Amino acid sequence: MAILIDGKAWAAHDRAQTAVAVAKLADSGIKPGLAVVLIGEHPASMSYVRGKDKAASEVGIYSEVTHLPSSMTEAGLLHLIRELNHDERFHGILVQLPLPAHINEQTVIEAIAPRKDVDGFHPFNVGALALGLPGMVPCTPLGIMRLFEYENIPLEGRHAVVIGRSHIVGKPMVQLLLAANATVTVCHSRTKDLAGLTRQADIIIAAIGKPRFVTGDMVKPGAVVIDVGINRSEGKICGDVDFASVEPVASHITPVPRGVGPMTIATLLNNTVKAASLRA
Ligand code: NAD
Repeated sequence: MAILIDGKAWAAHDRAQTAVAVAKLADSGIKPGLAVVLIGEHPASMSYVRGKDKAASEVGIYSEVTHLPSSMTEAGLLHLIRELNHDERFHGILVQLPLPAHINEQTVIEAIAPRKDVDGFHPFNVGALALGLPGMVPCTPLGIMRLFEYENIPLEGRHAVVIGRSHIVGKPMVQLLLAANATVTVCHSRTKDLAGLTRQADIIIAAIGKPRFVTGDMVKPGAVVIDVGINRSEGKICGDVDFASVEPVASHITPVPRGVGPMTIATLLNNTVKAASLRA
């Protein structure tokens, strides 16, 4: 039986620490501010934004959501971001992805001032992470690193297999694991003999977007399995890991829900406070 990594509980612990940091900043007359921009009526995006806004308010961050119609033009969005870049109330700017097809995501990400880029997606911050320089680090992989720390899971010298190479999860996860001296293998949709590689892993990070893709026969006994996936299958939310077959084999496992997801939001709040502290 694997140890269940309770992301929901660790996220509550993280948020409590963030609330203390917010209170300390208040003593210096600073209130961290987060501007969230949502475009269109994508149900999952609307739910994520509600969750982020509520969590921010609960720790004392000033949060403002700008909800724009899906007909919003790219020029209009870029204009809004330029305004937010100069608005002193906001230390963090988050544009909820995905954007409607007529808006270029990369152009929008690059318009956000790197010091306010609390998602860590701007090329400046991507480069800083690759070089091991200070910067904003994407929330999901950074939240996973916190889970390793809280659960005392060593990384140095261990073989981590990351499945998925997205800019949001897979690639920054690789950078963070390398910086922690793990040996990292990156797998993706063109990888040959995926199961042969995952069976060599001490740590598996599944960020694929396919329900219950990683099964027990792909996991070495005693491996740590982190499930990033959020999929809807038969009306329920499930991860990229087949919990029923993997849990008996792994030493540690994150559930979905209550695993990585809550840590992503907790880390976003933390990044916002970090941005406010840096400006102070
Ligand atoms: P993505 O679609 O951008 O990337 C998926 C990756 O999986 C790609 O790199 C692709 O090469 C790889 N892949 C696809 N099919 C594969 C296969 N058959 N074998 C091996 N690799 C394969 O997705 P993403 O943005 O990285 O998100 C991945 C999952 O994580 C999604 O379910 C998403 O909803 C979820 N997610 C969760 C959080 C969270 O906070 N828990 C945050 C971000 C994303």
